[in-house]
Amino acid sequence: MSNGENKTDVILIGAGIMSATLGTFLKELVPEWKVTVFEKLDSAGEESSNEWNNAGTGHSALCELNYTNEKPDGSIDIGKAIKVNEQFQLSLQFWSYLVKSGLIHNPQDFIMQLPHMSLVEGEQNITFLKKRFEALSTNPLFQGMQISDDPEKLMEWIPLIMEGRTSKEPVAATKIDYGTDVNFGALTRMLFEHLESKNVEMNYKHSVKDIKRTDNGLWEVKVHNNASGRIEYHTAKFVFIGGGGGSLHLLQKTGIPEGKHIGGFPVSGVFLVCNNPDVIAQHHAKVYGKAKVGAPPMSVPHLDTRFIDNKKSLLFGPFAGFSPKFLKTGSMLDLVTSVKPNNVLTMLAAGAKEMSLTKYLVEQVMLSKEKRVEELREFIPNAKSEDWDSVVAGQRVQVIKDTEAGGKGTLQFGTEVITATDGSIAALLGASPGASTAVHVMIEILNKCFPQHMKEWEPKLKEMVPSYGLPLMENPELITEIHASAAETLGLNEFGE
Ligand SMILES: Cc1cc2nc3c(=O)[nH]c(=O)nc-3n(C[C@H](O)[C@H](O)[C@H](O)COP(=O)(O)OP(=O)(O)OC[C@H]3O[C@@H](n4cnc5c(N)ncnc54)[C@H](O)[C@@H]3O)c2cc1C
Repeated sequence: MSNGENKTDVILIGAGIMSATLGTFLKELVPEWKVTVFEKLDSAGEESSNEWNNAGTGHSALCELNYTNEKPDGSIDIGKAIKVNEQFQLSLQFWSYLVKSGLIHNPQDFIMQLPHMSLVEGEQNITFLKKRFEALSTNPLFQGMQISDDPEKLMEWIPLIMEGRTSKEPVAATKIDYGTDVNFGALTRMLFEHLESKNVEMNYKHSVKDIKRTDNGLWEVKVHNNASGRIEYHTAKFVFIGGGGGSLHLLQKTGIPEGKHIGGFPVSGVFLVCNNPDVIAQHHAKVYGKAKVGAPPMSVPHLDTRFIDNKKSLLFGPFAGFSPKFLKTGSMLDLVTSVKPNNVLTMLAAGAKEMSLTKYLVEQVMLSKEKRVEELREFIPNAKSEDWDSVVAGQRVQVIKDTEAGGKGTLQFGTEVITATDGSIAALLGASPGASTAVHVMIEILNKCFPQHMKEWEPKLKEMVPSYGLPLMENPELITEIHASAAETLGLNEFGE
């Protein structure tokens, strides 16, 4: 039991981008609150938020074809694309505020301008791309989008992809110049460095083992100090479970009814990383293709220029795969131990429904490097195997839950915020669109967990995120303002540049 000395206002579990974002919000809103972080690894941003563990796409639906589905009548549904884009605009505003206020520095170390492109092959896919272009390009959130099926234009845009292309199939692409590459690992580290300077207590090498409610309504967190081997107990009024893939197990420990009947399905990832500077120099864009039949949406192949450690790199993937671990540094027993009496039926139902997905993922994990390079050649026809190395990416734990639309055991590809009814604890599950929407997700948590403070916090929230509470689609002038501010503070292009 707690010795009463380790009392704090807020406990953040996990030092990834989500805890970093929430901690930064809270320290700006109520600097006097005591915030304590527990992270089982040696430093911040080492799991999914690490730059080598995710694709670094500032997801704003500029190029991801899975956010614009074709409806049965042949028209394109752009609802999801608008939602994801609006959420990213919140992140841009918050990051601009952080730089403008001097809370973090050197934005080029975490965000870089990079064209976002969608690439398709074959008449049917080109018809889809053209319809998508027509639906999006007139929308203020997607202004400046270009399309081309002219081989000469495409050669100018993506020489590496067009060179040596022997297929007779026609190719087309769309391009928006103000996409971004985001180094979420660097941003996470910057935010925790800032938080430490604001007296947030960082406890690395501390694994949270249990979370229980105390008789007086606080939460008691049992922590294993991995360095000393000692067990510590800490209490807080509010706990955020930002353990990434580790969040489901911790949520289950809380015993809150909202955390029941939920399971997790881990999907692993592998990237091919180019080691040839001449090849890297020939490409400058994030180019997203179409997901293969049977593939989950998060495994859409893409060829990405990346900026890591101030160096230009080139990555292809991620190839999805199956591993029972919930974290890259997790245990092979993670999946099995996540099955509880309250979610076993949900998990079994998902198992029966998702046989083809499981088969697909197992096949993917068995792919040799040569097979992966063969897939790469669909993007870069002249790709040489010796120019590419495999690196293991992070784990994504997709949420499985019972839904009205999908029935028992439905696999979710989005993000789920689970909170106790009294708002004293919140957990974040799922990983898509992921780190790009951390600001939107944390504002949702503030709304759900601190409703009594929202009125008083509104002016500061509007200073941090000027469009807070306003739908951008109904206020297009705000979109121009956001981009102008991001151009000034983050070094990004304005519209049309
Ligand atoms: C292959 C891949 C590609 C992706 N691509 C993109 C992309 O292009 N764009 C994008 O926006 N998002 C992308 N994502 C998603 C994005 O990486 C995640 O949504 C985001 O990083 C999650 O942040 P987090 O803070 O929740 O988790 P994490 O960064 O995983 O941090 C969780 C932390 O909690 C710690 N922890 C866990 N359990 C415990 C415990 N019991 N005690 C103490 N500490 C604990 C972990 O060690 C870890 O440091 C991708 C993810 C993957 C895997």
